[in-house]
Amino acid sequence: MAENADMAVREAADSTVHVHPIIAGRQATKRILDKFHLRAAKKLGQNFLIDKSVVDGIVRAAGIVPGDRVLEIGPGIGTLTQGLLEAGADVTAVELDKKLPAVLSETLAGYEHFHLVEGDILKTDIRAIMGDGTFKVAANLPYYITTPILLTLLEEKLPISRIVTMVQKEVAERMTAAPGSRIYGALSVAVQYYTEPEVMIDVPPASFIPPPEVDSVVIRCDVREEPPVSVKDEKTFFRVVKAAFGQRRKTLHNALCSVGLTKDLSKEVLLRAGIDPRRRGETLSLEEFALIADNMPS
Ligand code: SAM
Repeated sequence: MAENADMAVREAADSTVHVHPIIAGRQATKRILDKFHLRAAKKLGQNFLIDKSVVDGIVRAAGIVPGDRVLEIGPGIGTLTQGLLEAGADVTAVELDKKLPAVLSETLAGYEHFHLVEGDILKTDIRAIMGDGTFKVAANLPYYITTPILLTLLEEKLPISRIVTMVQKEVAERMTAAPGSRIYGALSVAVQYYTEPEVMIDVPPASFIPPPEVDSVVIRCDVREEPPVSVKDEKTFFRVVKAAFGQRRKTLHNALCSVGLTKDLSKEVLLRAGIDPRRRGETLSLEEFALIADNMPS
């Protein structure tokens, strides 16, 4: 990537010219880390993106238009944030590392539409920080908490229209897996129940400092207006899903006993739903999970 060409020029309303050096590059990232005496913290899942084409790809996949409100999780030194801001987004970013606000106030100085919230995304009241109205989520997620973050975003029924995020390739495969596949599980069902996921970009370890030990992808999840299957009670639906995958090697007949059903009742529920009690959770489609849930005793 030609780093000497990495200068973005932005006209502020008062016609002052702000020149923002582009952060997404190996040399620029190294310079920033050195200047602030920072080392990527492994325990915080810090792998800083250094590939401008990936930043641009995430911004494009998110379909950012000026004025879009975006929640970014883990802005790091501001690499992806800058791409979002340059596209005209209004970005609220939640960062846990206490060393990074000082860095961000320098790397993103002059961007008026950047709001930093210091704290743990899993303990943050997202509704409160995002206020009213729909928003998008964009992130290069810390891999050690990808699943809880995604499940929180989906299950809390926040007014999110689209989630575009970097995840481990293996996690994206689980998110998009079809019934019958070895990797189809509770995450696949939740992601596909709430969204339409699509893998957008393959990202090699060399696109980060330090390079992670795994391959990554950018995945786009468009949040559905309506779930693809209708269920009488969502809580029961997810209770059945959890039971079915919690006992992966067990038949559904046995797995349902783990949610308090007697053997007889478990068999009766499955037969009423038209599902062979000898089947296993990983073979069930969303429709079949819904049928079981709708036949569970209340
Ligand atoms: N967005 C930057 C980039 O693309 O280079 C950094 C991405 S890095 C993979 C993950 C970021 O998430 C780090 O900045 C890390 O400090 C932050 N982080 C880790 N755990 C977090 C948490 N629980 N809440 C908020 N941010 C967190």
